[in-house]
Amino acid sequence: MKYKNFEIHRISWVTAIFLVSTLLVTFIALPLYIIKTPSEAIHWPFQLSLFFFYVIATGLSITLGYHRLFSHISFKAKWPVKLFTLLFGAASFENSVLDWASDHRDHHKFVDKENDPYDISKGFFYAHMGWLIFKLRPPRRHDNVKDLEKDPLVMWQHKYVQWIAMFMSFVLPAVIGGVYGGATTALGAFLIAGVARIVIVQHSTFLINSICHTMGKRPYSTRSSARDSALVAFLTFGEGYHNFHHTFQHDYRNGVKPWQFDPTKWTIWLLSKFKLVDSLRRVPQHKIVLAELMEGQSQIEDHLSTWVSRLPESTRKLKEDTLRSIQEISEELAQYCKELQTSTKERIQVSQTSLQEWRKTVAQTLKTLEELRGQCWVPELEKA
Ligand SMILES: [Zn+2]
Ligand SMILES: [Zn+2]
Repeated sequence: MKYKNFEIHRISWVTAIFLVSTLLVTFIALPLYIIKTPSEAIHWPFQLSLFFFYVIATGLSITLGYHRLFSHISFKAKWPVKLFTLLFGAASFENSVLDWASDHRDHHKFVDKENDPYDISKGFFYAHMGWLIFKLRPPRRHDNVKDLEKDPLVMWQHKYVQWIAMFMSFVLPAVIGGVYGGATTALGAFLIAGVARIVIVQHSTFLINSICHTMGKRPYSTRSSARDSALVAFLTFGEGYHNFHHTFQHDYRNGVKPWQFDPTKWTIWLLSKFKLVDSLRRVPQHKIVLAELMEGQSQIEDHLSTWVSRLPESTRKLKEDTLRSIQEISEELAQYCKELQTSTKERIQVSQTSLQEWRKTVAQTLKTLEELRGQCWVPELEKA
């Protein structure tokens, strides 16, 4: 972990105590409550329903509201959607949307550099949650969220965010629990739908800044550390396709392929059918495939210019035919990408079939190169 310029007075004590105490309550107080309380007094079906409702409501408020709506304006929403995501977004204890969006817009603008609030080059833990505890940066100036400052609902949430968060996150579940089954059920609702849910939703969100900038594939661009992770997508309502998101940040979809798990995208689409949201922004399909092809082409080039060119003659001859055909594919692909770029500029319709075929060829070529690399492994190559 690299904590440059670390000084004790830079610790944000309130945040640090909150993050640690919610963890302690979840892993010590909650198990004690479960052990000591007769299960009929806990009312498990009620507790689990309330817990899952809260996980979905607060989780989606962050992904759909804080992230895709307010930070990226990837669609427009009517006030009920805004109000819901502001109330339940506050309940996730991830700051006001104004602060969140300001940090997040800086993250996209300065990704992997000093001014990136959750810069992964400062270490996995720093990107995950260290950045919240150690104030290494100057205070936020909100100069990148002037548009949000014009929204009265956003400003109301910003002003009262701590009160809204306390009420929505702790008081409301406890009151619902109390009405349902008395004091013991109220305590259970406070611990399960309140505290434990905060820990789960917060750390799932944090994984996007840590895991999705460390592990996974980069099919659209290697310009930043952002990566696609199906596992994180599963835990974060679809936010794990982070390489796509960093490449096309204004698209309301993160999992752009039909088989990718992106419940946030499905919810936005569904809300649009009820006219609660509109103006959904989508990057044209051919631009997405072009990005994939160009990235694939540059990865093939990389392979060819680094380890393939340094293979010992004996190994090289063995694979000559395969390498020759890969070289040819790479040259053809470069040509195709050039033509595609021209047709995109001139708005010429490109056949979807040929795009898909190229996509398959690139995937196959990269797979062959990886296999060849495995077969031809020699220690000198690893060192270089
Ligand atoms: Zn990111
Ligand atoms: Zn984003």
